[in-house]
Amino acid sequence: MRIMHVGEPKSSQHFVELDERYGAHNYKPLDLVVERAEGVWLWDVEGRRYLDCISAYSAVNQGHCHPRIRAALVAQAGKVSLTSRAMRNDRMGPFLRKLTETCGFERALPMNTGAEAVETAIKLARRWGYEIKGIPDNEAEIIVFSNNFHGRTTAIISASTDPSYRRHFGPFTPGFVPVPYGDADALQRAITPNTCAILIEPIQGEGGVIVPPEGFMKRAWAICKEHDVLFIADEIQTGFGRTGDLFACDYDNVKPDILVVGKALGGGYYPVSAALANTALMELFQPGDHGSTFGGNPLASAVAEASLDVIVNEKLASRARYAGAKVMQGLRAAQSPLVKEVRGRGLLIGIELTVPAKKLSAALLDRGIAAKDTHDRVLRIAPPLVIEDDAIELLLEQYNAALAAI
Ligand SMILES: *Cc1c(COP(=O)(O)O)cnc(C)c1O
Repeated sequence: MRIMHVGEPKSSQHFVELDERYGAHNYKPLDLVVERAEGVWLWDVEGRRYLDCISAYSAVNQGHCHPRIRAALVAQAGKVSLTSRAMRNDRMGPFLRKLTETCGFERALPMNTGAEAVETAIKLARRWGYEIKGIPDNEAEIIVFSNNFHGRTTAIISASTDPSYRRHFGPFTPGFVPVPYGDADALQRAITPNTCAILIEPIQGEGGVIVPPEGFMKRAWAICKEHDVLFIADEIQTGFGRTGDLFACDYDNVKPDILVVGKALGGGYYPVSAALANTALMELFQPGDHGSTFGGNPLASAVAEASLDVIVNEKLASRARYAGAKVMQGLRAAQSPLVKEVRGRGLLIGIELTVPAKKLSAALLDRGIAAKDTHDRVLRIAPPLVIEDDAIELLLEQYNAALAAI
């Protein structure tokens, strides 16, 4: 039996086979085996170049292998990487100061994956419901929206309305009340004295880049204020410049009570997430109530601090607004009976087709563009926010060619 695998054959097929042979089949990825990446570009093991229009689901808004973030990672890796929260480290405090100042909140609780930060927000909202609002114990309700995506834990999928996320994973966690996304009247009707919060994506990314009707977010927020209900915004995908504002909530001038961030907070180098809130809310957590071995570790903190610096210093939000307008205009100019709608904001763009989006995705991949279908008929276009004009031109050229070819 061979144990060492020195010098794997340099063929995409080989690595695809290993994945299929040894992995769980819980994803259906593009057959693109990436070996190297820089900025908006990917190279496969055969040396072919691709434009990345997925950005690891918006976790690499800053572009792949950003030198500033990489330097922070390497420097910190040589000092101390992990302490656990049993003691303190000299990186978490500066990171939290930068995160809260950037996001406009008083406090932040660091976690690792997005799902953990959503879980944190759910716990915080429920605790507020019992201790401040006076909801009877175990009766708190959180209103969620149809077609949502907040992660994959058993509690979070209990809030999902998508059968494929839920099938045979029950029994589910009670306390989530779904209403149609974008329907403020339905939201209003769903509120009871036991409602502690709503949990909402300002734009549904996984759900197919669904932008709610103009004014909906503002109304939802006003309804929350009126009924003493917390507004939790899940900006894990929409945050940190993706939609052309620092946060998608800024577009509607809405200030959440709890903001959930992740993905680009780690700059593509490390999983870093957080739930942010003001002191009055955050102090409902007492020592021992909640935590994470890896949350706020020095390596994560150093990487996240650098990731935030890049977002702010390189003005990634306004770049996304500029580049997004160009991409959107170009995509909309393509006349094709296969395209039903092109929608989105900034560089979070969805192309709804009349045919399965996998077809367009495959035609684009043949032409050096990596983009993935979400929800069968929608192709998501979400490149790193550092995309420049030459890459935009390439994208639009290949988009037209791919549309003509399918
Ligand atoms: C990706 C995502 C999550 C989950 O983040 P993970 O890091 O995969 O756990 C939650 N909410 C939204 C809106 C997301 O896009």
